[in-house]
Amino acid sequence: MSSPDAGTQGPSRLPPTSEDGAAPRLLEVEDAPPGTFGELEPTAPPLTDAQGRIRLSFSRIDTYRTCPRKFRFRYVDRLPTQPSPHLSFGTSIHGALEAFHDRKLPDPPSEDELLGFLYDAWDTRGFADLPREEQVAHYRHAQQVLRRYHARQRPPGRTTAATEAWFEVPFAYEAVVVGSIDRVDVDADGDLHVVDYKTNRRARPRSEVAASLQLALYALACRHLYGALPRTVSLDFVVPGLEVTVGLEELDLEAARATVLATAAAIRAERFETVPNRLCDWCDHRAVCPAWEGEADDTFGAAVTTAEQLRRRLRREVRELRELEAGIARLATERGLDT
Ligand code: SF4
Repeated sequence: MSSPDAGTQGPSRLPPTSEDGAAPRLLEVEDAPPGTFGELEPTAPPLTDAQGRIRLSFSRIDTYRTCPRKFRFRYVDRLPTQPSPHLSFGTSIHGALEAFHDRKLPDPPSEDELLGFLYDAWDTRGFADLPREEQVAHYRHAQQVLRRYHARQRPPGRTTAATEAWFEVPFAYEAVVVGSIDRVDVDADGDLHVVDYKTNRRARPRSEVAASLQLALYALACRHLYGALPRTVSLDFVVPGLEVTVGLEELDLEAARATVLATAAAIRAERFETVPNRLCDWCDHRAVCPAWEGEADDTFGAAVTTAEQLRRRLRREVRELRELEAGIARLATERGLDT
């Protein structure tokens, strides 16, 4: 394997100064040939499937609706994104709750077992650059959230039918929406109930939950998977400990379908306009975004910092891979196996 920095260093990677002497853009992302970003290229699923349909998910649609340019950076140019404490916190909580609800026993796992699932599912990536005390504080917070979750009563008569239910729902020949539903419950009448966990600090009002595109898509996915629409859909805000539930009749499934088709058509037409918004400060691609070019004094610094963080992450993962390979080789030798 070549050095993690191979292909990302050296003056030849910087665009030449333009003929009018204007300063070059830091990275000519749009003109960059495949492989420019070397080993840092991510492995995101492709934008279209084998049938030529635009491959969407709720998160892809949400990104496009927030800022089409961000969508392009992420899913067309496939620029890498960074792990963050918030994302890793959410991944860890989801992993623990999946294991909790996956247990097919008459009695649910104990609180200690749920905390054990958290230990197993803890995603360290987003916390790696934080001081140890902050990492511990995040972990303690996750434990507290799950203790509260464990103490809550579930609606009587319900059992878990599926966790992380993977779906791929076609929308005509234009798009396919993929994703996984956190949990599907079934009640004593055989009706289905969809639940999605959220790790926002505050719960959203009921009107927003009823207007959730994500829940409408999950309802359609439920019909695709099980042949029946759910009776209710919920967002379970696990941090404040509040599940907000709405009935199927409150969802606008036709609007969700229209949004999917309109988003797919816009992507196919390569409409990727730049829409600055209140989330720009947290956007992974701000350092290369034309909306901020020349406006932010720290553009160069942000890009250098991002590159260094990516290199550190890559080195750490290469080190872990080598340790694992060495361990596997040692075990194989002890057991007289070929590797
Ligand atoms: S920085 Fe803002 S405007 Fe630029 S791509 Fe990101 S979200 Fe869009």
